[in-house]
Amino acid sequence: MPSFLTRTFKYRVYPTARQERQLEQTLELCRQLYNATLEHRTLAWRMARVNIHAFTQMAVLPEIRAALPEYRQVHSQVLQNVVGRVDRAFLAFFRRARQKGKPGYPRVKLAGTYRSITYPQPSPRSVSPDGHRIYLPKIGLVRIKLHRPALGHLKTLTVLREHHEWYVLLICTNVPVHTMPATGLSVGIDVGTRWFFTTSDGEQVSNRRPQEQLQHQLTDAQRELARRTPGSGRYRKAHDRVVTLYRRSRRQRAQWHHEEAKRLVQRYDLIAHERLNVEPMTGSRRAIQDVAWSQFFRSLTSKAEMYGRKVIAVHAHNTSLRCRKCGKTTRANRRTQERFLCVFCGHDEHADFNAAWNILARALPSGRR
Ligand SMILES: [Zn+2]
Repeated sequence: MPSFLTRTFKYRVYPTARQERQLEQTLELCRQLYNATLEHRTLAWRMARVNIHAFTQMAVLPEIRAALPEYRQVHSQVLQNVVGRVDRAFLAFFRRARQKGKPGYPRVKLAGTYRSITYPQPSPRSVSPDGHRIYLPKIGLVRIKLHRPALGHLKTLTVLREHHEWYVLLICTNVPVHTMPATGLSVGIDVGTRWFFTTSDGEQVSNRRPQEQLQHQLTDAQRELARRTPGSGRYRKAHDRVVTLYRRSRRQRAQWHHEEAKRLVQRYDLIAHERLNVEPMTGSRRAIQDVAWSQFFRSLTSKAEMYGRKVIAVHAHNTSLRCRKCGKTTRANRRTQERFLCVFCGHDEHADFNAAWNILARALPSGRR
C-alpha cells in the first residue's frame, strides 16, 4: 500500500477587480495562442505533411513575446503550458484515431471557452504563511479561502474560472496517507433509486437529492430566463440565477457524498460496490442517477486512498436475483422492487439488503461470509 499520494486541492480565490481584469486578459491571450498553435500544426501538416513538435513551437515563444508586447504580461511558463495543451490534444486525437473510435480533431477554442491557466512549476511557497493569500506570478497576491490545508509538495498550480467565480487547483505530490486503525469490518453497498444505498449490515441511507429540493426554484428561474431577450441585461441576470442554483445543488450533493463516504471509510476496512457502466445511456433517469453514483464512488475511493482503506468494484450481474442463503438465482426471486423471496429456500428479506450482501461476497477473496 503506498504511503504517499498525488492529490488535487481546490480552493476559491477572490481576485481584486484589477486582478480579475488581468486574469481575463491572460485567459484571452492564452486562448488566442492556443488557436494559433493549433492552426500552425494543422497547416504544416496539410501543406507540407510536416508534424511540428511542441518543443519547436515552444522555442518561438520568446519571439512572440518580443513581437507582441501584450504577451509579456503573461508568465512564460503559462505560455509553454498552452503549447503543451495543444500537444496533448493532438496526442489524444492520434490515440483515438488508432483505436478506431471517433477521433474528433482538436478544436479551436471559441471566445469565453478557455477557462484556465496553469503554472507548471509554481514556487513551493505560493501560499502565504498565514494562508490568506496565494501568489500568482504576473498577477500578484490573490486572496484565497483555504478551507483545509494543502498537503505534500506543490507540483502545478491552475487558476480556473467557473462562470463568475475563480478557483485554484493545486496538484500536490507526496501527500501522506493517514492509515486508520483496522476495524476488522467489511461491507457491501447496493445503490438504488428508492434508497441511495443499502449496506450488507442493513443500514439504509435515503436519497436526499438536493437537486430536487432546489428544483422548484430552478424551474422558476428557467421560466424567467425563457421570457427574457437573449443579450439583454435581464437575460444575463436570469441566466446568472440559473447557474447559481445549479451550482448550489451540485455543491450540496458533493458535500453530502463527502460526508457519507467519510462515515463508511471510518467504519470499514473494505467497502465493495457494484461496477457501473462506463458509458451509461444518456438522457434516461437511470443515467442521471448513474452520474450521482459514480461521483459518490469517486469520493469514496479517494477517501479510502487517503486513509489506507480498500474499495472494490465488483460486477453486479445477478446480485439482485441471487439468494444469499442458498445461492440460487432466478428472476422469480424478486416479487417486488423491495422484497426478495427465494422460490427455492424461502429466504425472505429486503431486496437491497440481499443484493448488498452478494456484492460484498463477490469482493471477498473466498466468496465467504
Ligand atoms: Zn434461497
